[in-house]
Amino acid sequence: MSPDGRDEGPAGETPRYFDSHCHLTDDRLGEDRSDVIGRARERGVGEMVTVGTNPDDGIAAAELAAATDGVWATAGLHPHEAEAWAPGVGHRIEDLLARPEVVAVGETGYDLYYENSPREEQGASFRAHMEMAAESGLPLIVHTREADRETREMLEAYRGSVRGVLHCYTGGMELLESAVDAGWWISFSGILTFDGFDGAERVRAVPDHRLLVETDSPYLAPVPERGKRNEPAFVRHTTAALAEIRGEEPAETAALTRRNGRRFYGLEQ
Ligand SMILES: [Zn+2]
Ligand SMILES: [Zn+2]
Repeated sequence: MSPDGRDEGPAGETPRYFDSHCHLTDDRLGEDRSDVIGRARERGVGEMVTVGTNPDDGIAAAELAAATDGVWATAGLHPHEAEAWAPGVGHRIEDLLARPEVVAVGETGYDLYYENSPREEQGASFRAHMEMAAESGLPLIVHTREADRETREMLEAYRGSVRGVLHCYTGGMELLESAVDAGWWISFSGILTFDGFDGAERVRAVPDHRLLVETDSPYLAPVPERGKRNEPAFVRHTTAALAEIRGEEPAETAALTRRNGRRFYGLEQ
């Protein structure tokens, strides 16, 4: 770290980061969104993917992405909201997937920790997102919490036809290994900076070319910002923690995860 607190690479330049998963359209980031994006850029975060949690949010995400350099959007229905799943919701998501600034399907998946929607409906929505990903050829963003077995079964059912990421990964080694084997990617959030994080072995089990980093902002602010509203500028803290676990320089991890982010979302190199 330099005296002004910036993390510098070997050449003394601020590393460039790719925040692979944030929610810039969330109300908690809404009031000063342009300041949030400005602070991210100052900290080297030149690229962010803002993830849609329902069709209205997907429209907001796509509009923000269309108007903002370095921001891309996704469209899907969050497992917390899966109760709202209906064919009409799927059609609205499909319309969004046709927009050039929308680069992935999701987020979808299973959250059996909160189980805000019944698990059958989470499963039906997840399956429909798998179909949309297979049909569109776009990558899929999957949220999985306390649902290793269910998520694994879903990935197996679409093996070879869908490629995606298990985002904010907190699951076990078995799901991680079967996902990687099926061609999937793994993304880590600020959780790995928290005291008591015991997933170093899982972090090290992800092959270099399948590793992503994210803030999931406004949630899960990494240490030393824990407890505050999270924002993409903080992705450097999670990148530094990843680097430490992997035994490399933060600038190397930043470069790797940035390259991977562009590749995962199919952005021009
Ligand atoms: Zn999520
Ligand atoms: Zn999310």
